[in-house]
Amino acid sequence: MADADCLFCRITSRQVKADIVAETGELLAIKDSNPQAPTHLLVIPKEHIPTLADATDGHTVLLGSALQLANQLARQHQLSQGGYRVVVNTGAEAGQSVFHLHVHLLGGRPFRWPPG
Ligand code: 5GP
Ligand code: ZN
Repeated sequence: MADADCLFCRITSRQVKADIVAETGELLAIKDSNPQAPTHLLVIPKEHIPTLADATDGHTVLLGSALQLANQLARQHQLSQGGYRVVVNTGAEAGQSVFHLHVHLLGGRPFRWPPG
C-alpha cells in the first residue's frame, strides 16, 4: 500500500520528519514546509492514493474524515469565523506536486477568486 518513493508515505510512516499537528488512525495533519498563508496545514490520508481522481466509493468515509479534520483544525486555529480555504490540487495541470492525495487548509489572510 505505501509507496517507498512517495514523500508523504515516508512522512506518514515517520521515515521523514514533519511538524505534526494532528493524527488519527487514518490521517496525519502536518504544517506545510513552504507555507502560502499564515496557517497552512496538510491533511494526509495514511493510505497511498495518488490523486483525488484515484479515489473510489470505498474512500468516501476517509475523504469525509479528511474534510472534517480540516474543519476541526480550522476551529483550533481560530479560522472559522473569518474564513479559510480548503484545496485539493488534483493532477499536474492543477498544480499538484506531491502525488499522494492531501487536503490543504489555508487561512489567516484574504484569498482571491478565481484562483490562479
Ligand atoms: P501540492 O502542490 O501537491 O498540492 O502540495 C504539496 C505541498 O507539500 C506543497 O504545499 C509543499 O510546500 C508541501 N511539501 C513539499 N515537500 C514537503 C515536505 O518535505 N514537508 C512538508 N511538511 N511539506 C512539504
Ligand atoms: Zn504515498
